[in-house]
Amino acid sequence: MGRISRPCRGCVEHSRLTASSVRFEGDAIVITGQCLCGAVRYRIDAEPISSRACWCRLCQYIGAGSATVNVGFLSAALQVEGVLRDYESIADSGNRMHRRFCPACGTHLFSAAEARPRFVFVRAGTLDDREIARPVATIWTSAAPSWACIDATLPRVPEQPLPLG
Ligand SMILES: [Zn+2]
Ligand SMILES: [Zn+2]
Repeated sequence: MGRISRPCRGCVEHSRLTASSVRFEGDAIVITGQCLCGAVRYRIDAEPISSRACWCRLCQYIGAGSATVNVGFLSAALQVEGVLRDYESIADSGNRMHRRFCPACGTHLFSAAEARPRFVFVRAGTLDDREIARPVATIWTSAAPSWACIDATLPRVPEQPLPLG
């Protein structure tokens, strides 16, 4: 239990991410999650880099009409058990994206840009502890419908934000 406090290469968003119930093994952080049916489980031995709510058109399909909340991690820290399917497409940003989901229950768990394999984005709803996923910004607000509930206290980015790194 503890608060995430170590710096992560100057990421300005990081200092706003706090974790009320992140599990530690010794000094190491352990983040876990799974799909709806449990056929896919994962663990991440790293701190989150950022979390953002995304209203891009594609996320509205995945999010059943709402934004998705996506937590960025170093992909090298992710270990997955179970079989995933990969849906490949070109995002609104122009990036070729891989979106991986459980073929049994359809839950989307991960997305990654082909151009930036160092990073993986985890769908916040699959985390065992969703408290670590509090977004620090809302992105692609230009694609949101007029009735979208967008947190007025967070910075808004109309389209694609700058990449994590
Ligand atoms: Zn599943
Ligand atoms: Zn999106």
